Amino acid sequence: MKASSVIKLNQTALQSNWEFLRSFFKGKQISAVVKGNAYGHGITAYVPMAEACGVNHFAVFNAGEAYEVYEVASPSSTIMIMGSLDDDDIEWAIEKDIEFYVFTMERLATAINTAAKLNKKALIHIEIETGMYRTGFEQSTIPELITHLKNNTDTLVFKGLCMHFAGAESIANYVRVKKQKISFKKALKVFKEAGIMPEIIHTCCSAAAVRLPDMHYDMIRIGIMQYGFWSGPEVLIEYLNKYNVEESPLKRILSWESTIMSIKEVPPGEFIGYGATFFSHQTMLLAIVPVGYAHGFSRSLSNTGIVLINGRRAPVVGMVNMNCIAIDVTNMSDVKINDTVILIGMQGGHEVSVASFGEMSNQLNYELLTRLPINIERKMV
Ligand SMILES: *Cc1c(COP(=O)(O)O)cnc(C)c1O
Repeated sequence: MKASSVIKLNQTALQSNWEFLRSFFKGKQISAVVKGNAYGHGITAYVPMAEACGVNHFAVFNAGEAYEVYEVASPSSTIMIMGSLDDDDIEWAIEKDIEFYVFTMERLATAINTAAKLNKKALIHIEIETGMYRTGFEQSTIPELITHLKNNTDTLVFKGLCMHFAGAESIANYVRVKKQKISFKKALKVFKEAGIMPEIIHTCCSAAAVRLPDMHYDMIRIGIMQYGFWSGPEVLIEYLNKYNVEESPLKRILSWESTIMSIKEVPPGEFIGYGATFFSHQTMLLAIVPVGYAHGFSRSLSNTGIVLINGRRAPVVGMVNMNCIAIDVTNMSDVKINDTVILIGMQGGHEVSVASFGEMSNQLNYELLTRLPINIERKMV
């Protein structure tokens, strides 16, 4: 059965992004963050493509994602779980040398006990609370934590010490981010003075990595930038100004395509699709495309979305249906069934970018990308 749309991933663009990241961050170790199904790009398609660009460290949110990476990654690549995993997952992670964050005493105890049972060390990253208030050990628990780490060197490898910034992409959070830096440095000092240090220290996501070079330490965790996007307009503008460049060096690697499934002529004076949101004032030609909100084409794009057909921009008319949309191709006499329709991407010098798609549908790049359904085929080009 043929899927009604396909997501294409451009290896050349990805290669270029990784070359930029390596030179911009001066060869610093980078963990490729591939949570959220690799920001919608598809873990199983994306991870081997990233490995071909020399990436060998992957960060995910939960054990399910780690499992997907594990299935396709080279055995020499490192996998790190930054968020949720239950006790069974901890056993699996230890068995497979998968590194994971520890941010509660309960998880620490489970890691110690499971490692003892398996007779294999757990590779852990200790996350410190610095003001994000999501996960992380409170500063006040650090002395107790240090005692546990010192007493359990037979079951634990202290791989990393880390934190996460709460909104480094916006100058509005300047004070909060500054406080986080101070707080992390204070925590780090306690570890240093106790004579117990991790193998690596890591604190920065993309925005922090661009904005806070003094916080890079041993590794940075890059998500959105590897896919060709900036964390937000402020970060891009800051980069362009600081380095005196005209346009973003990052390239989008994803495009989303479908084809015309049916063409329909509509007489003047008729409503189109469900309800009465679009009325034909003239004889119209519609191209019906088999992609709808069930496939991630948001209902909020009803009567506002734009797609590309035959190198030209064409508007969505009427409501986005569950499985299809109607496109106004009235002035495009050359369209035919099976013609390519670009939902996100470039054609004939025009572009529907994720950002413009996002603006039309009121979604953030991050949200829009990760909502692209898992079951659409991802194809490397
Ligand atoms: C998502 C995430 C990142 C990557 O964020 P980007 O803004 O996409 O670079 C890094 N670290 C943690 C803990 C995250 O949750």
